[in-house]
Amino acid sequence: MAKLSFRDLDDSEIHDKRVLIRVDFNVPLSNDAVPRILDDTRIRETIPTLEYVLRRKAKVILCSHLGRPKGKIVPALSLRPVVDRLRELLDHLLGPQENVGFSPDCVGEIAIELVSQLGSGQTLLLENLRFHPEEEANDPRFAQQLAALCDVYINDAFGSAHRAHASTEGVTHFVSKSAAGLLLESELNHLGKALNVPDKPFVAILGGAKVSDKIGVIESLIEKADALLIGGGMAYTFLRAQGHSTGKSLVEEDKIGVARAALEQAKAKGIRFLMPVDHMLADSFDADAQPEPFEGNGPFPEGKMALDIGPKTIELFANEITSARTVLWNGPMGVFEFPEFSRGTNAIAKAVADNAEATTIVGGGDSVAAIQQSGFANHITHISTGGGASLEFMEGKILPGVEALTEKS
Ligand code: AMP
Repeated sequence: MAKLSFRDLDDSEIHDKRVLIRVDFNVPLSNDAVPRILDDTRIRETIPTLEYVLRRKAKVILCSHLGRPKGKIVPALSLRPVVDRLRELLDHLLGPQENVGFSPDCVGEIAIELVSQLGSGQTLLLENLRFHPEEEANDPRFAQQLAALCDVYINDAFGSAHRAHASTEGVTHFVSKSAAGLLLESELNHLGKALNVPDKPFVAILGGAKVSDKIGVIESLIEKADALLIGGGMAYTFLRAQGHSTGKSLVEEDKIGVARAALEQAKAKGIRFLMPVDHMLADSFDADAQPEPFEGNGPFPEGKMALDIGPKTIELFANEITSARTVLWNGPMGVFEFPEFSRGTNAIAKAVADNAEATTIVGGGDSVAAIQQSGFANHITHISTGGGASLEFMEGKILPGVEALTEKS
């Protein structure tokens, strides 16, 4: 594979050049009349790349999507609120004459005009790409319009790299230079190493609601990991595949066969495929439900559902995690949004964070939120910014946004 890094670009290719960077500023916003950014992680994650190009006095043009406006202008999904936060985060790099500007459209006359006024070391954020239906349709004319704004294109939006959109894939056909930004590069390096040349033992923990969302990842990890730990709602489809009756717990009836096949695949491969051995049950799917411990996988009491793993499972999983040298975690162990059922997820977060000798990687929106809530985020080697993208990467799928850069370099 060709090398993917914008550090391969020499300074002369960046200095004073118009550099278009596809970032992922898809941040959660409040519903206030003047929306506030509720979590700025995605903006902060791009700062190393922005520092790199701004220190080299590029003319920086940033583009991103925000939410799902479906090709229409939706004022509540404007990227304008991001400008102020970006200004604060880049303050140390901006001289008295330098600022972060905003273009109310990502293409067309206004964008062309504002880009032409950009000085070296200045930054311009373009309005939400998805206000144009051509973005998601990967329309070549739209991609060409984006490309015309720049001399060099950099993709730093790992979270969107699994989509072949105009700003992630199409644009690369119309620029002479394209490269991966530092965040994208770091994501690919960390995930790529864990999957292809992991330090052993390699333990993967998978949780979350559904088998259907993660079966591709499970099948792929059975081939690579030494142990797979399954928790969360998806565990109950697997337990049913083993013949247990799981009461009202979440089960995808049409995926029991797929789960059984995965269990057989794991057995044939000789890896440890661990499932919960005890549970926290509830009468209903409710934040106020009282957790009731239940040992074993015998039939659950009438009408009960499992919403978290129990203490024995925590111990079993934590032992595996402690002796691992590579840990990959995607998906919560229970309904961690309900405090009473968040103990399993938090305990796993702590076990992962406590293993200082392992390379630890956490991906997927919910497990990242859980690790942040638990206060151990700074102990993790790599927190992936891309939910869907990291799942597709782990499945072994080619990410169109990455593929496009490879062909180009
Ligand atoms: P995912 O997006 O697939 O990672 O799933 C995350 C969701 O799975 C979270 O909203 C959890 O509340 C949910 N979840 C985890 N464990 C369970 C469970 N035992 N029963 C129902 N939902 C669960």
